[in-house]
Amino acid sequence: MNSAKQTETPQPGEQSFTADVARLLDIVANALYTNHDVFLRELISNAADACDRLRYDSIQNPSLIKDNPDFRIHVFKDTKDRTLSVIDNGIGMSAQEMADNLGTIAKSGTAALMKQMKEQGASADLKLIGQFGVGFYAGFMVAHKIRVVSKKAGEPSAFTWESDGRTGYTVREATSDETATLDGARGTAIHLDLKNEACDFLLDEKIKMTVHMYSDHISVPIYMGTPHDTKHDQSEKLNTASALWMRPKNEITAEQYTEFYRHLTGGFDEPSMTAHWRAEGKIEFTGLLFIPTLRPWDLFDPSRRHFVKLYVRRVFISEDVNTLMYPWLRFVRGIIDSEDLPLNISRESLQFNPVVSKIRSAVAKRVLTDLDKLSQIDPPTFASIWGQFGAVLKEGLYDAPEHRMELLKVCRFFSSHDNGERLTSLEDYIARIKEGQEQIFYITGESLNALRNSPQLEGFRDRGLEVIFLTDTIDDFWLQKVLDFNGKPFKSITKGHVDLDVYDFKTKQNDQKDTTEQPDKKNEQDAANIGGLIVRLANILRDRVQNVRRSQRLSGSPVCLVAADNSVDMHMERVLKIHQKYEASTKPVLEINPNHPLIKLLAQQAQAGADIAEAADLLLDQAFIIQGEPLADPSAFARRMSEIMLRALEGSKS
Ligand code: ADP
Ligand code: MG
Repeated sequence: MNSAKQTETPQPGEQSFTADVARLLDIVANALYTNHDVFLRELISNAADACDRLRYDSIQNPSLIKDNPDFRIHVFKDTKDRTLSVIDNGIGMSAQEMADNLGTIAKSGTAALMKQMKEQGASADLKLIGQFGVGFYAGFMVAHKIRVVSKKAGEPSAFTWESDGRTGYTVREATSDETATLDGARGTAIHLDLKNEACDFLLDEKIKMTVHMYSDHISVPIYMGTPHDTKHDQSEKLNTASALWMRPKNEITAEQYTEFYRHLTGGFDEPSMTAHWRAEGKIEFTGLLFIPTLRPWDLFDPSRRHFVKLYVRRVFISEDVNTLMYPWLRFVRGIIDSEDLPLNISRESLQFNPVVSKIRSAVAKRVLTDLDKLSQIDPPTFASIWGQFGAVLKEGLYDAPEHRMELLKVCRFFSSHDNGERLTSLEDYIARIKEGQEQIFYITGESLNALRNSPQLEGFRDRGLEVIFLTDTIDDFWLQKVLDFNGKPFKSITKGHVDLDVYDFKTKQNDQKDTTEQPDKKNEQDAANIGGLIVRLANILRDRVQNVRRSQRLSGSPVCLVAADNSVDMHMERVLKIHQKYEASTKPVLEINPNHPLIKLLAQQAQAGADIAEAADLLLDQAFIIQGEPLADPSAFARRMSEIMLRALEGSKS
């Protein structure tokens, strides 16, 4: 049983690239980037990762590095052969790992991107790929052939992976000459046969400049020359080779921060916010965190995890400690370097380590404080961050009561104040609040446009009462948990009874003077008619609504629906149904506008004993449609509608 498969050498001979790799290589070859230099950044970045991984493994198993304890990277050019090599003494790859890592796209992000690009065909937005980078394959921008010689630390033999970057690759045992290109008994050497147009990489100056530009922050030293150079001491070190995050802030340029961010993300964008600080006191750590400019493609994928790397005293530990960041900060990238955690801790037990959860809380606080500051000093950048990640941050309102106040401070909302054109903070809402207004009004729905035009808003708008517009799915949920802001409770305008008359207080007094002086017979009659209509409607529609009542919310529309006081808000109910967490359906309340001509007329007719059943159903259907709710019986609606149209047209003919 345990025979054969000891060295998992893949089948000799040429293996084909998977379809997505082939497509990716095609894009790479067709001049994806005008700037080819980034290939070196990618290869050095992989080499540094390989060193980080072996450094971690060697804590448990020091023999892995005993012959060659210092990690390093070499960049070596051979002018005669026209090759450029990047050599590291990191963890190395087995034959199987080379086939897996270099012949398929393991990174879920890139695979998903390729799928998307395939679906969109030629029109695919090439800029999108900028978010991802193409990693190792970037080498084919400058090379017509790549040979990867690698020897996994602790294993006996080295293997060679070779490809022209077109159809496939081969993996075979490395020759002794090839093995000799490695840095001692482990690691990887990547040899690029340069294309003619990339021959400037045979110039020392070009190599130096490129490494300096993109890889200066790499904490592993990068040397020019081969690992076997006898005059190795003199061979030049090309980078500063100290962990960037340990350097004083005032010695780090914006470009260096950006390059570090790109090294972490493999992307090409700029961070929209950078936070770099040292926490001292009960727990000590250094944080260097970035907020990207754009949403990652999988931001709302339930399996999305965060990508903050955990270091312990400069040693990379893991980027899988899921308790290190709150899920609602899963878009943040960067590193945390702890001074307190033990180095030889297993990755698994880190999940439950109390130091880790303290770091998580301190990091969240810091990010929220910095966001708040950014909102003061650079509102446009803050607004764009909010636009990309606001919906995710709001998950924290639901999940993390301990950070609720700081979160509410940075939350921004559209509201009726600017007709949903501009974002407002809750503090600004409170500053504009009407005298005597004790609640923060809000409405949730599918889109800003639907909310702007919703009938329930009319009465509030008329009285100058500002209503917050909420369109993210998460909004209905956090509002179940967050009951108030600065003592003012949140109140849905589509649920329950609202007494808007109190806000008419001043105008009312004036009106009342008039009416008491000369009581209006007609108004009294109208009121009685409406009372009668309400009883009739409630009776006709009793299977579909819980109740019918006079509305204070409406001014332009004849009817609207609201949720009863004790039931779930209507938009929330729809969201729950979509997510299949909710079966029951509660009947809404139908509110009618006593001042609308249609309602007045209907009330008169009802009073005169006419049959209003058809009109009642139509009114209710209309209210459902405005609400974006599906009609229980659309064909009945269509039939009623056509009959009424027919009658109206016949009426206009005669
Ligand atoms: P990424 O670095 O984002 O994972 P790459 O395309 O750059 O994607 O690299 C693919 C994988 O190939 C890496 O995840 C790693 O497993 C492996 N790899 C690449 N270069 C090296 C190297 N120098 N040493 C060890 N493994 C490497
Ligand atoms: Mg990489």
